[in-house]
Amino acid sequence: MIVTRFAPSPNGPLHLGHAFAALIAHDLARERGGRFLLRIEDIDGVRSRTELADAFRADLAWLGLEYEEVAPQSSRLASYGAAAERLKAQGLLYPCRCTRAQIAAAVAEKGTPSGPDGPIYPGTCRGRAVDPAGEVAWRLDMAKAVALAGPLEWTDELAGVQRATPEIFGDVVLLRKEAPASYHLAATLDDAADGVTLVTRGMDLFPASHVHRLLQALLGLPVPLWHHHQLLVDREGRKLAKRRGSGTGLLGLTELRLAGEDGRALAASLRDRVLPAGVFTSEGLDRGL
Ligand code: GLU
Repeated sequence: MIVTRFAPSPNGPLHLGHAFAALIAHDLARERGGRFLLRIEDIDGVRSRTELADAFRADLAWLGLEYEEVAPQSSRLASYGAAAERLKAQGLLYPCRCTRAQIAAAVAEKGTPSGPDGPIYPGTCRGRAVDPAGEVAWRLDMAKAVALAGPLEWTDELAGVQRATPEIFGDVVLLRKEAPASYHLAATLDDAADGVTLVTRGMDLFPASHVHRLLQALLGLPVPLWHHHQLLVDREGRKLAKRRGSGTGLLGLTELRLAGEDGRALAASLRDRVLPAGVFTSEGLDRGL
């Protein structure tokens, strides 16, 4: 049975792009007689707010999307720790004490190339005797991990079969100094634990799936299908982003809901005008719904 999920982080209000993402996950599950899950990704304790998670639930109901809620990330910390221990036992993680400033300085000095998330970690702590006690991040030794896993593939429903190239990220952080796990580790483990068979999310996270496929191989997890969809953009062609305030004003779901707008009509207009036309701009939708 097909299982999809919408997995928002409660660190800012949802915007129209989230409505679009939730709708795709919901509709793909419903069209194929499957389940649609909501998972609150509140791993980042400091920035996560419970009132935002409550607003997300109300926003989904307002859009007319029925969901089954699964455990939030904050209740799954033991599983992240256990997976990290397994990777450590295989010699695939190493402790890193570098600060952002030290990494930036080393990158500038060495002229390190960039990956999808910015400059690749220059490997300062790899092979170094770093005391693992206290405030350290744990990084994946990418070259070792890729060699151990061997060649891997994954399939995106829209883009087809992909050869996994997680090395484009370099030695990613799997356990963060300030949070019990990174997005890559937590999302991969949670999707497996929740029985997600079709991972739907925006194109901006397409490269991350290379890393997730590698983690699935290293941890013996089932391999889902992926469906990376287009992103809604604003009038300037920029993707909507919480950090730029897209969750407020005319693009903010909670504000629209509280202003008495019709959520089901909004969902219908995303379905009718955005999905079939392949036009992914929010222009027109952000006024007079
Ligand atoms: N919590 C992530 C976000 O809000 C979810 C990404 C995913 O769907 O894998 O961007």
